[in-house]
Amino acid sequence: MKQVIILLIGFYGFFGYVNGQNSDNPPVQAKNIILLIGDGMGVSQIYAAMIANHGHLSLEGFTHVGFSKTYSANDFITDSGAGGTAIATGYKTYDHAIGVDADTIPRASILEIAESNGKATGLVATSEITHATPASFIAHVPNRNDYEEIAKSFLETDIDVFIGGGYKYFADREDNRNLIDELQKKNYTVCTSTDQLKDVKTGKLAGLIYDDKPPRKRKGRDDMLMIATQKAIEILNQSESGFFLMIEGSQIDWGAHKNNTDYIIEEMLDFDAVVGAVLDFARHDGNTLVIVTADHETGGMSIMNGDFSTGEVSAKYSSFGHTGVMVPVFADGPGDDLFGGIYENTAIFEKMKLLFGFQ
Ligand code: MG
Ligand code: ZN
Repeated sequence: MKQVIILLIGFYGFFGYVNGQNSDNPPVQAKNIILLIGDGMGVSQIYAAMIANHGHLSLEGFTHVGFSKTYSANDFITDSGAGGTAIATGYKTYDHAIGVDADTIPRASILEIAESNGKATGLVATSEITHATPASFIAHVPNRNDYEEIAKSFLETDIDVFIGGGYKYFADREDNRNLIDELQKKNYTVCTSTDQLKDVKTGKLAGLIYDDKPPRKRKGRDDMLMIATQKAIEILNQSESGFFLMIEGSQIDWGAHKNNTDYIIEEMLDFDAVVGAVLDFARHDGNTLVIVTADHETGGMSIMNGDFSTGEVSAKYSSFGHTGVMVPVFADGPGDDLFGGIYENTAIFEKMKLLFGFQ
């Protein structure tokens, strides 16, 4: 009898092994996830920057690429509120919604789920930190334009690091609350310049670097996105249970709304340099999944001509608004093979949740 049982265990062990179901191989999990969103970043915006950079981008370091369908619950062409909310919460919603579903019911974001599971969390953007994309990960409001309401959400979570513009929505408010004081009482170090950011080594960090919108890179923002990203990773990586960080290249969209090819390329190259730095960190770390995607395409940009040696790009546009085309999703790190194929934008949330090992 004993020999039969041992034989059966051996038999199932062998078939479990060949089926990849062996209990020695638990499902892949990522300790850390860094999600980079290029707002308005379609394939043409990426290729324009690649040509301008003489044929290469850090994005080429990714070997797993898919496409996401970006339409919202009420609109074939999404806005950044519904697009951000789909990626952040896994719910398609109406345009201008932030962290609520199509029935205005608040839905937990991947950042909030990570937070409640003991991970450190962060948001970095080159827009106001209250702008639609970062707001989708932390706030639950029916309308994206309610910046003062969105700012309050940062006090209602335990987010560890957030860096962007929009100081005035915390400091100069209609309800006369001073959220800067309230952040400091919650032990946040509040920074209003990139130099101040560099001095912070640990603890909670609120970087409100610009009073309102950050300027475009060559009009004074300089290396803010790189400095903010590296500081966020330095602080969040002190968490033994891992972290979630969303980084947004917000102004690719703003350049595209203006059909301004130079502005798009400048913001794309700024974003791509940060993608490269994040990939370097992740590959050295070994437990970090990096995802790069967009909420939608902006401008209906087409590349009509280019020269890799001079970096010249000739583009045409079909819109001053967003378009409905699929956008790329790049992934590298634990679970990256789940990101090939074509899927809904909401699937990005599901994949992140699965790879974090959350129920
Ligand atoms: Mg945005
Ligand atoms: Zn836009």
